[in-house]
Amino acid sequence: MGGDAPIVIQSMTKTDTRNVPATVAQIKELADCGCEMVRVAVPDSEAAQAISTIKQNTSIPIIADIHFDYRLALAALAAGADGLRLNPGNIRDPEQIAKVVRAARERQTPIRIGINAGSLPPASKQHSSIPEHMVSAALEQVSLLESLDFDLIKVSLKAFDVLTTIEAYRTISPRISYPLHLGITEAGLPRAGAVRSAVGIGILLHEGIGDTIRVSLSAHPCEEVNAAHEILRSLDLRQHGPTLISCPGCGRADVDIIGLAESVDRRLSEISKPIKVAVMGCVVNGPGEAKDADVGIACGKGRGAIFRKGEVVSTVDETRFLQALMAEVENLCALD
Ligand code: SF4
Repeated sequence: MGGDAPIVIQSMTKTDTRNVPATVAQIKELADCGCEMVRVAVPDSEAAQAISTIKQNTSIPIIADIHFDYRLALAALAAGADGLRLNPGNIRDPEQIAKVVRAARERQTPIRIGINAGSLPPASKQHSSIPEHMVSAALEQVSLLESLDFDLIKVSLKAFDVLTTIEAYRTISPRISYPLHLGITEAGLPRAGAVRSAVGIGILLHEGIGDTIRVSLSAHPCEEVNAAHEILRSLDLRQHGPTLISCPGCGRADVDIIGLAESVDRRLSEISKPIKVAVMGCVVNGPGEAKDADVGIACGKGRGAIFRKGEVVSTVDETRFLQALMAEVENLCALD
């Protein structure tokens, strides 16, 4: 992670960590949809101990999310957590942090310094802005960890406000070389939250800032992962699974383009190959976009042309639009 390594997609379980079967099941779902690292809440020692069994039954790194009680961090490390997230806003005793850092160093376990604008530690000096306060809090923790001869550090500076978040990351980026984990915290329900996250995370990634991302949504965590993949796809940073190109539909369409696109999208969610699939509603822009995709359909009145790699391979009746398009997709996937 960091440097030229691919941007890593993270999420967080929404189960009670103490409920091991439910947490394991959700982590498996997340891994299946392309999550590469998962954080679990550790509210008490039972949750910390559960990490051991969770790890035995899952395959992606488990990050323990620790607040308030440094002893939970020690317990999570003992249980085999692959990483810790500490919020300096609520573990403030340097000696307690030092105990955690020493234990993490022994195990070579990374620590994320997770600054959150909503729970900043008291300012040690006057700050002119929230981003400046966030950066200062992070740098103080970085210095503390470095003074303990520890450098397996990641840093995040999350806020609900997109511009605050962007400003904070832009400020810290030239000042440290550790990987930065990006996110807009408490971004909201999927529609608004995905857009807010795409704007904040997308701007930073486009500027070359950021090494891991999490989209925080009030939704099933797979929605977070899907949105994160979409951000990386949009910036051509990583390709995971198919890209659906679908026209918005208008008065020229003679087909239920929204319904067709939704059906195709559902079917594509089962495919991991990074192909482009176009669903177009008429012959105005349809053939052009459908030809540029790996597989596409340009719908007309009652009939549609199926394209594959730029060539029309068949024309089909409206009743077979979905079936014929997906047959071409599956053929293409089977070939490589
Ligand atoms: S492709 Fe055709 S139906 Fe779709 S938005 Fe464009 S003009 Fe309208």
